[in-house]
Amino acid sequence: MSRIHFHETIFGPVHSRRLGISLGINLLPTNLKFCTFNCVYCECGWTEATGPGDPAFPSPELIFSLLEKRIQELKTEGITPHSLTLAGNGEPTTHPEFPAIVDGIIAIRNELLPRTRISVLSNASMLRVPGIMEALKKLDNNIQKLDAGTEEMFRLINQSKIKTSLREIVDNLKKFEGKVTIQTLFIRGSIDGITFDNTTEEEVAAWLTFIREINPKRVMLYSIERKTPLPGLLKVSKSELARIAAQVEKTGICAEFFD
Ligand code: SF4
Repeated sequence: MSRIHFHETIFGPVHSRRLGISLGINLLPTNLKFCTFNCVYCECGWTEATGPGDPAFPSPELIFSLLEKRIQELKTEGITPHSLTLAGNGEPTTHPEFPAIVDGIIAIRNELLPRTRISVLSNASMLRVPGIMEALKKLDNNIQKLDAGTEEMFRLINQSKIKTSLREIVDNLKKFEGKVTIQTLFIRGSIDGITFDNTTEEEVAAWLTFIREINPKRVMLYSIERKTPLPGLLKVSKSELARIAAQVEKTGICAEFFD
C-alpha cells in the first residue's frame, strides 16, 4: 500500500483549488503519520501513532525558522502564497505546543506576508482540549472535517483513535459560531464485512441536520482522489456531489464540490 508522507516541515507551495497557492506547514513528525483518527480513505495511509510520548514533533523554533526561510526564498522568486496552510502527516492540533505555534505563525505572516491568509485542515477532534479552540479562532480559515451524520458512520469512516463521539464534535464545532468551513468526504465501501455509504438519503439527512446546527459559512464536498489505505473504496461521482451540494444550498448555506 502506498503511503504519502510529507517529509518536510514546510512543503510546497502547491496549487490548491480550494486555497490557491498554498504553502504547507506540517506540524507533525516528518517520518510517520500521527493522528487522532484513522480514516479509511486517508492519503497518508493508516495511522501509526496517536498518544502522548510518541515521537518527535518539530519544535516551534524550527518551524518558525524554516517558514521564514521558505517565505524569503519565495519572495526572491516573486511568489506570494494565498494561504499558509497547517496540514500534513495527520492532525495539526495534536502538536503539544499548538497555541504557541499559531501565535508565532501569525506574527511571521503579519511581518512577511500581510495579505496571506492562514488556513488549517483539522478533524475537529481536539476542540475539547483547553487552548485549542482559542488558538484556532485566531486563524483566518478554519476548515474542519465532518464526514458522517450518524455515530455508526463516524465509527466506520473515521475510526477515531481517541474516545469521542460525533455528537461531541458537532457540539464543539458549534462554538465557532459560524466562522468555520466544513469539509466532508463522500465515499462508499466495506470494512470487516460491513458496508458503508455516507451518500444515502438517511445519512445525508442526518448530516444536514448537523450542518444546520453548526451553521458554517461554507461546506466543501469531495470524494477520494488517490489510493486509499482501505482497498475497494468507491469514488462518489460529480453529479452525486452536486446533488448533495444543492441540498446544502437549500438550507441557505454556501456549498462547493470538488471532483
Ligand atoms: S483526520 Fe485527516 S490525517 Fe487524520 S486519518 Fe483522517 S484524513 Fe488522515
